[in-house]
Amino acid sequence: MHKDVGAILLNEAEIKARILEMGAEIAAEYKDKNPVMIAVLKGSFIFMADLVRAMDMPSRIEFLGVSSYGDKTTTTGAVQITRDLDCDIEGRHVIVVEDILDSGLTLSYLISYLQNRKPASVAICTLLDKPERRKVEVDARYKGFTIPDAFVVGYGLDFAEQYRNLPYIGVLKPEVYA
Ligand code: 5GP
Repeated sequence: MHKDVGAILLNEAEIKARILEMGAEIAAEYKDKNPVMIAVLKGSFIFMADLVRAMDMPSRIEFLGVSSYGDKTTTTGAVQITRDLDCDIEGRHVIVVEDILDSGLTLSYLISYLQNRKPASVAICTLLDKPERRKVEVDARYKGFTIPDAFVVGYGLDFAEQYRNLPYIGVLKPEVYA
């Protein structure tokens, strides 16, 4: 285990098994819809890669770059689009792929941003959900794991751009970001 990680919350096998279930669930509902899968960068890049390989069906892969302003471990909800989509989503079924749903501010901003482009539907697929910290209600259709209020890293999630490559999701030791 990495020296800055206090505890492993979800190990590789648990993450893999859950993503296989989520991929099968999405495939059952979107089989003939050729959805646009939109990964929110950067945190969801690993989740996206594993999720689409667990979906035995056609889909289009897109990336949306966002940066949110906040302090080191929380966001204010002020979101800036740093990389836009490469395709028109009007009339398309869209699935937004997120690493973690925390206050909900980022996703609620993104949903209205995407709705303005008149997609046929928009659903949220988040690997992690921290419901204790919710500030605005966000309806995530697919949720991997509900986790307690702790700052986690690994499997794409960073602190100061580090730890994204850890194959598990772990709780960062508070002294690292204090
Ligand atoms: P929200 O707008 O829901 O508060 O925040 C969502 C974003 O905040 C996530 O996409 C992620 O970038 C960041 N975030 C929230 N909680 C955590 C966490 O525990 N660990 C890490 N690494 N990022 C988090």
